Amino acid sequence: MILDGKALAAIEREKIREETQKLGIQPGLAVVLVGDDSASQSYVNSKEKACLELGFLSRVMRLPASTPEAELLQIVMDLNSDKSINGILVQLPLPGHIDENLIIDAIDPDKDVDCFHPFNFGRLFIGSQIIEPCTPKGIMRILDHYMIEIKGKNAVVIGRSNIVGKPAAMLLMQRHATVTIAHSRTVDLPEVCRRADILVAAVGKPLMVKGDWVKEGAVVIDVGTNRVPDSTRPKGYRMVGDVDFAEVEPKVSAISPVPGGIGPMTIAMLMSNTLALAKYAHGIID
Ligand code: NDP
Repeated sequence: MILDGKALAAIEREKIREETQKLGIQPGLAVVLVGDDSASQSYVNSKEKACLELGFLSRVMRLPASTPEAELLQIVMDLNSDKSINGILVQLPLPGHIDENLIIDAIDPDKDVDCFHPFNFGRLFIGSQIIEPCTPKGIMRILDHYMIEIKGKNAVVIGRSNIVGKPAAMLLMQRHATVTIAHSRTVDLPEVCRRADILVAAVGKPLMVKGDWVKEGAVVIDVGTNRVPDSTRPKGYRMVGDVDFAEVEPKVSAISPVPGGIGPMTIAMLMSNTLALAKYAHGIID
């Protein structure tokens, strides 16, 4: 079974559009991009497009890589007090002279659409989250849509970043999976992966997970988005995941492809979080 994130994301966006129209509110998302990293630019463009398609207010601020930390901090403060903005997203990574934690800490937790602020991150770890980080939320949504049992399963998450690995592990644990978090110092990673009923790869290493790393019938979620050079493509590269799809797909019961898997779900969940924060700001409780 191919876990079609592109199709599910379209369904999710339609639900969000309908709910927004019914509520008669206009959620507002501000995206701040510092520098000209081409992958970040393309993510920001997709976020802007998704906002506009849903009728959300979209404010994209594209700043030069030389922007001083203090100036970025002031922009975040201004967005915090802007009533038309419900969600603030500062695209990571930031240039080296800017302290990412300082910037994330400055975002009003009530507008922290990525769920990166320590307050929201802490709530997630306690299990009382108001909001969930977009990529892990997208992973859970796709597992639920395809009615994949989580309770009691062995889940292995490769990657321990604050953006994907740790929160994905936390959400899987909340749903009663037995979770192993693997990383660059894990000994015998293939053997650890072979224990997984649900394997989540969030590493950033093209085609790392091979056919003999997975158990027959496992469910594989490929979060990796890696550009590999390909002169036959108009852009000179193609996107591949962290999983060697050709080797792994014949062995498993379900797998998310790259592209068309977790990527579109992440954007849809960003819109879902923006709507959730807008409802919160308007005092609308489900
Ligand atoms: P990070 O670079 O922050 O984290 C990578 C993790 O992988 C680290 O924990 C690192 O371990 C681990 N790792 C690195 N090399 C190995 C290895 N050889 N064996 C085992 N573990 C290893 O990346 P992110 O979590 O931000 O992103 C991971 C991938 O997901 C990237 O390809 C990124 O582009 C993609 N992504 C996709 C999204 C989507 O919407 N589809 C959204 C966000 C990310 P250690 O901690 O020890 O260094």
